[in-house]
Amino acid sequence: MSSFHLQIVTPDGLFYDGQAESLNLRAAQGGLTILPRHTNFVTTVGMGPAKVVLDGNARTAACIGGMLSVINGEVRLIATTFEWAEDIRLHGREDIDRERAKSALERAEAKLADASLSKEEHRLAESAKRRAQVRLSIPQA
Ligand code: ATP
Repeated sequence: MSSFHLQIVTPDGLFYDGQAESLNLRAAQGGLTILPRHTNFVTTVGMGPAKVVLDGNARTAACIGGMLSVINGEVRLIATTFEWAEDIRLHGREDIDRERAKSALERAEAKLADASLSKEEHRLAESAKRRAQVRLSIPQA
């Protein structure tokens, strides 16, 4: 099957560097699928599930925003955070810790119930809630 070179980078370093058959994620304009020979393209990436097909196997991850570029067949995803739904032992990276995400969701909801929050505190708590919801929405492998 034809493939393209995919690099996924997060602030923690190089997350994935190898061939992929497709990449599906939530881009600024909506759902986006990258296949081999995609035209040159740059977009922002929203929060949501990302699906990567590697060696014929679909792998799902939680992607919390970033940028995507396709330049002459080279695909680069620079993600704020990226966690696989399962430990596929690529570069020894962590998979989604559901207990951690549940705790983060509870903390965010408790914060949001506090009527004395400033606008900025409210915005931060809403973002934390959304991140936890995205992580918990990814089906377990
Ligand atoms: P928490 O309050 O649990 O830290 P958060 O949403 O504030 O959650 P982020 O700032 O988005 O965390 O991420 C910080 C780092 O922790 C990133 O490297 C991210 O991949 C990792 N991370 C956060 N939550 C999880 C999780 N539930 N499972 C695995 N890794 C996580």
